[in-house]
Amino acid sequence: MIRTSTSPVLTLWRRSYSNIAPTTKLFIDGKFVDSKTTEWVDLYDPATNNLVTKVPLSTSSEMEAALESSRNAFRSWSTTSVLTRQQIMLKLQAAVRRDIKKIAQNITLEQGKTLADAEGDVMRGLQVVEHSCAAGTLLQGESLQSISKDMDIVSYKTPLGVTAGICPFNFPAMIPLWMFPLALIAGNTMIIKPSERVPGSTMLLMELLNEVGCPPGVVNVIHGTHDAVNFICDSEDIKAISFVGSDAAGKYIYKRGAASGKRMQCNMGAKNHAIVLPDANKDATIDQLIGAAFGAAGQRCMALSVAILVGEAQQWIPEIAERAKKLKVNAGSEPGTDVGPVISPQAKKRILQLIESGVKQGAKCPLDGRNIKVDKYPNGNFVGPTLLTDVKPTYECYKEEIFGPVLSIISADTLEDAVQIINKNPYGNGAAIFTTNGSHARQFVNEVDAGQVGVNVPIPVPLPMFSFTGSRGSFHGSLHFYGKQGLNFYTQTKTVTSLWRKGQASTRPSVSMPVH
Ligand code: NAD
Repeated sequence: MIRTSTSPVLTLWRRSYSNIAPTTKLFIDGKFVDSKTTEWVDLYDPATNNLVTKVPLSTSSEMEAALESSRNAFRSWSTTSVLTRQQIMLKLQAAVRRDIKKIAQNITLEQGKTLADAEGDVMRGLQVVEHSCAAGTLLQGESLQSISKDMDIVSYKTPLGVTAGICPFNFPAMIPLWMFPLALIAGNTMIIKPSERVPGSTMLLMELLNEVGCPPGVVNVIHGTHDAVNFICDSEDIKAISFVGSDAAGKYIYKRGAASGKRMQCNMGAKNHAIVLPDANKDATIDQLIGAAFGAAGQRCMALSVAILVGEAQQWIPEIAERAKKLKVNAGSEPGTDVGPVISPQAKKRILQLIESGVKQGAKCPLDGRNIKVDKYPNGNFVGPTLLTDVKPTYECYKEEIFGPVLSIISADTLEDAVQIINKNPYGNGAAIFTTNGSHARQFVNEVDAGQVGVNVPIPVPLPMFSFTGSRGSFHGSLHFYGKQGLNFYTQTKTVTSLWRKGQASTRPSVSMPVH
């Protein structure tokens, strides 16, 4: 028998019912439309594995319709005044803020994270909307009067055209909000392909775009998996792709999208380390490690998955285990939950296999969350907080991104040894140090090869006036998400050189290179 979970948020985009479960609609040209597809992805509540909705794999003609709508909308949206675009973003930010709890409920249902964490997911996206409201300043180009006699140069930031966003499952609201607000404020239109595992937040955001008067076609949403991704990569009419997700998909999409000349930015997997020096504030550091390793059940690209304990800090392991053990594992919708389920039974199986391989290769497991039981939710994909100690960089559990509530602990004798371990890891998303010694912190900041560095901050995700600067194996592209780089990603520069000279006639043509 198929069990179904009822969404607490039954709105326009899910009002049509199949005979089994609500279906998720497409959003094309400002309307929520039923897909004509015969192929669907079933989306299950991670806490119960009850069916929540069926997500369509968009047909070719539906994807073409989305593209045509985006192309048409670009003509008028790109010439809509910056002030009007800004007004829409200002209204959107108020509407998202009003609906944070509603969007968060939907995130918890589809993705599993706790309600408080889901609100944080929306909030971090909302901050990008807020930042984009400064469009009048952000979009300013450069100018220089009288660069040469009677000559002025002005540069403008102009939109690219139709852009696209391909999103992962772990931040259902934040990641689409990293993408479309900046793309739109710069005058582009955008096609979004949400993760087929968590499309609901994007659909709720589309309702809000309609509510605040964003014209039809400025954002279109198609659902699907590989075919939808290939459609986006191959289309000559799409000028840029923003992707966030796994390595396998990111590398593939980067290559395929770039092959047709698109601008690409691909944020991918991670293995984030924290170095703990023995002079760190012990209490605060242990709490920070635990929060960053096990929050969102470890399913954050900036989750802290490796702690390198230096010298005497290695004696803190029993206390780390003791405190992590107290975290409450339960459905994300239950009050007081610290760690919700992971996204799917397949993800759970993979996490358990990686823990098992760590133990087989020689790691110790002073806190083992593999057999956790959650009485009220016997079918959920729960994994309890797990500590693997004595981990070596050659172990599978170290080399792979586990993406679950597992903290691997490595021991090192010196700060230099610890930094070397981080720099040898192929990923470069985030790295942190815990210390009370300023010169050690400074040495770490200078020597560590990671794009986002924390000093006594375990998840150093930059705020939107900066950019999300993951590096090395965690990023393909050159311009990062949000901040100045994000805006540069969604714009091209037009430089205008003007000569206005009063009544001077030329005597003969000059054929040599003008140097003004
Ligand atoms: P995923 O790669 O499975 O899915 C991301 C998107 O790509 C989805 O829309 C999916 O439909 C599509 N996709 C999946 N496999 C594909 C393939 N083989 N070919 C073409 N398209 C494909 O990622 P996920 O599991 O949803 O998300 C988790 C991953 O995302 C983790 O690795 C995490 O570190 C990473 N992530 C990175 C960041 C960052 O900023 N660096 C942020 C969030 C998540």
